[in-house]
Amino acid sequence: MTAIEPRITEENLDPADWDALRKTAHRMVDDMLTYLQSVRERPAWRPIPSEHKAAFNASPLPLEPQDIDQVYEDYNNDVLSYPMGNIHPRFWAWVIGTGTPSAALYEMLAAGLNPNVGGGDHMANQVEKLVIEWCKEMLGYPAEASGLLVNGGSMANLTGLNVARNVKLLEAGIDVRTHGLTAAPRLRLYCSSETHSSVQRAAEVLGMGSESIHTIPVDSEFRIDLAALQAAINVDRDAGLLPFCVIGSAGTTNTGSIDDLNALADLCEREHLWYHVDGAIGAVAALSPAALPRLHGMERADSLAFDMHKWLHIPFEAGCILIRSREQHYNTFTLTPPYLVHSTRGTAGGDLWPSDYGIQLSRGFLALKVWMSLKEHGIRKLGRSIQQNIDQAQYLKALVEATPDLELLAPVALNIVCFRYAPSGMDDAALNALNEEILLQIQEQGIAVPSGTKLNGKYVLRVSITNHRTLREDFDLLVREVIRLGKTFAHSLPKQ
Ligand SMILES: *Cc1c(COP(=O)(O)O)cnc(C)c1O
Repeated sequence: MTAIEPRITEENLDPADWDALRKTAHRMVDDMLTYLQSVRERPAWRPIPSEHKAAFNASPLPLEPQDIDQVYEDYNNDVLSYPMGNIHPRFWAWVIGTGTPSAALYEMLAAGLNPNVGGGDHMANQVEKLVIEWCKEMLGYPAEASGLLVNGGSMANLTGLNVARNVKLLEAGIDVRTHGLTAAPRLRLYCSSETHSSVQRAAEVLGMGSESIHTIPVDSEFRIDLAALQAAINVDRDAGLLPFCVIGSAGTTNTGSIDDLNALADLCEREHLWYHVDGAIGAVAALSPAALPRLHGMERADSLAFDMHKWLHIPFEAGCILIRSREQHYNTFTLTPPYLVHSTRGTAGGDLWPSDYGIQLSRGFLALKVWMSLKEHGIRKLGRSIQQNIDQAQYLKALVEATPDLELLAPVALNIVCFRYAPSGMDDAALNALNEEILLQIQEQGIAVPSGTKLNGKYVLRVSITNHRTLREDFDLLVREVIRLGKTFAHSLPKQ
């Protein structure tokens, strides 16, 4: 006779009481919807008191289980109370999307199903595949192209430039995947002085160094200077460097300017250079029939990076890289050890493993919120929302131009308005200090959240409208408050 084993108590992480969790879950959903519905009634932002931060950061590592209702209480008291502000109708800082209430639910569904969208034969991979097909169609990009969802524009730029570097070095006889850059000639890529800093980060990560970036000046509308670009390429070739890539911006971060994307495509064809477009902000403006013509040429890019957590209001994180050549995309990243062998049958089957096309192996189900949001809203409505922001930018521009003491400091090409409070009799240094104070006051008083930047040495209030909740009257309020704060602080700032 075998001895009877003592009974082993096995644990799992499921709730002990499913009905109790169900109640809590319903309360969480209800509370979140109420919070979103009433967002306009709260301040756009408020500073976190230092005691609050200190108390929070002193929380001990939990050793034993805590009641989920208590954990949720802590979230309500500690976290929910000081949000970033980007879901508020008067948040216009950096380039930050607003999200949508329904997409918060889609995130919950994705987390519940919790697939790893790196590969295998399951529907999550098919959802991503379909979403990529839809992205190409939305942006007018070639149907045979390849693509990958990534966590944002920086990763999209890195992924695209990784392919560019490998392909162009292979053409020069260097297999960079095997040999690295040691035997490679010195590479040069070209972009304007208004190009996003993620391009520099990509160049650094890719081992080319920031020196590999030849920065080209911009014209009066903040677009890349094409003659200067051609001259730079000639000079670099003569010096024995290897020009390999030009980056066009479809919406720059400072001012929303759009490079001449067709002219850049022509130049890249002529010079046999890889053409990458950073469309983190502006590519999705292709959904607005009125804005689309300004993006022409974008569809000719060898690689096109864009964001969905900005102007498409998919909750963070969601970006996308499209690559014209599926083969070049695949060859840059595919790597299949025995434990990841793709089969034709079983769970490791599947016609497409996203992990063959990027840096990540394990990947979240970003595609679900995109797929469901695109279906829920339809691209025509999303296009109208984008056009509404473009029209609002023109409205604010007109307000600024019609208001004495306000000065517009850049053309309004898309959805970004840069201006300052500039009464006569103050020099630039004084105006810089004054406008910085105005910005901080507007934020700290919870009125609105523009951000700041410098254009040609002048500090500007930068209003970047990727917000489906904003109303025109919000800009009337902004302008009134800028004037009020400007008058208040014009003569009371400490001397620099
Ligand atoms: C925001 C932005 C990026 C970076 O995108 P993330 O999603 O923040 O990583 C790149 N390029 C431009 C033009 C941007 O505005």
